[in-house]
Amino acid sequence: MIERTLFNEEHEMWRESVRRFVEQEIVPFHAKWEHDGIVPRELWLKAGEHGLLCCTVPERYGGPGLDYLFDVVVFEELWRVGASGPGFLIHTDLVATYILTFGTEEQKCHWLPKMVKGEAIGSLGMTEPHAGSDLKALRTQAIRDGDDFIINGQKVFISNGQMCDVIVLATKTDSALGAKGVTLFLVESTRKGFNRGRNLEKLGMKAQDTSELFFDNVRIPSSNMLGAEGRGFAQMMTKLSQERLAQAIRSATVTETVIEWTVKYTAERMAFGQSIADFQNTQFVLADLRARATTARVYTDKCIELFMEDKLDPVDAAIAKMVTSELHCETVDKCLQLFGGWGYMWEYPICRAYADARVVKIAGGSIEVMKTIIARDMFKGSLKLKKSSV
Ligand SMILES: Cc1cc2nc3c(=O)[nH]c(=O)nc-3n(C[C@H](O)[C@H](O)[C@H](O)COP(=O)(O)OP(=O)(O)OC[C@H]3O[C@@H](n4cnc5c(N)ncnc54)[C@H](O)[C@@H]3O)c2cc1C
Repeated sequence: MIERTLFNEEHEMWRESVRRFVEQEIVPFHAKWEHDGIVPRELWLKAGEHGLLCCTVPERYGGPGLDYLFDVVVFEELWRVGASGPGFLIHTDLVATYILTFGTEEQKCHWLPKMVKGEAIGSLGMTEPHAGSDLKALRTQAIRDGDDFIINGQKVFISNGQMCDVIVLATKTDSALGAKGVTLFLVESTRKGFNRGRNLEKLGMKAQDTSELFFDNVRIPSSNMLGAEGRGFAQMMTKLSQERLAQAIRSATVTETVIEWTVKYTAERMAFGQSIADFQNTQFVLADLRARATTARVYTDKCIELFMEDKLDPVDAAIAKMVTSELHCETVDKCLQLFGGWGYMWEYPICRAYADARVVKIAGGSIEVMKTIIARDMFKGSLKLKKSSV
């Protein structure tokens, strides 16, 4: 593999430390959490104590003020062992980032120190039963009442939904205005009228809680607004590249890991008097995947570098997410095949990786939405594509 050049000695020492934490505090318990459908709150507190949450939050808000690569190391080390339960990525990469970028000094001082420690867990509430890809169509309303807003509506598929203490909530403050009527709020889970629905049963990522959330006349002060009124959609658009980059990092990491597992397994497993790896088909399948995993990793690392220089273009982020997600899903499928019946057994990590993978082509912008973004860039100036709703 082409050597990765992003990380320095400090990042590598951090990786060792995170790896130890993951091996000790997560790996032995993950199967139980899959059964429970949730990870315990104590894990969040331990992760906070160990510094795994919100690495980039500045010291004045209680964080260590490190660079983005420290967060990347945490995400990679979780994906490397298939630990899809802890929703640290949403909390760190999305919720804390939204608060850091758009929050008032008061909001930052209130939430970020608690989020760094794992004492407050964050969720991002955008998707609704009738509005996922087409976020402009969201219906949750926030209506002004004096110096307050009253929120009514429903969200669905919300990661960390069963445990969250704060939600970055996308609402409509003016239904007549479409995208320009979208406003973000920070909503505390302690507010009267806020209710958590079911912990939804999923195909994979079984240890991560994913929920419906209900808002029934939830009254919040206008000081809970995150950013300016009517700017919510534009704010969300500025964060999508980061979300897509994180998805690409996940897919690049899982792809490499699953190939490693399969090389090891097929070298040991015997059939017809030889190892499975002795079949030329096995070698060709894995060589093909390895070649593409390497190019995906190099492209993703380049995107990380650009992101850190504040130069990551949304089209490049879409390309990274699309290519790595498709490769991720193809890899788990082809590798599971080489495990035979054992690959279909839940006790084998490849089985879990297969089930966990499917979501990457849907969440954070579906493959089709990524293609639309890329095509729109290619056909700039074409009137028809300019009118695209994505
Ligand atoms: C496990 C999980 C966790 C999630 N976590 C969160 C979370 O924490 N917070 C949150 O807000 N949301 C979350 N989501 C929601 C996720 O972002 C949405 O599922 C996603 O945006 C797609 O929306 P949808 O499900 O409504 O699909 P729809 O928008 O109904 O789309 C269905 C399908 O239609 C096709 N399609 C849609 N638009 C286009 C288009 N423009 N062109 C061509 N084809 C198109 C695609 O094939 C797409 O998959 C999560 C989802 C899952 C499954």
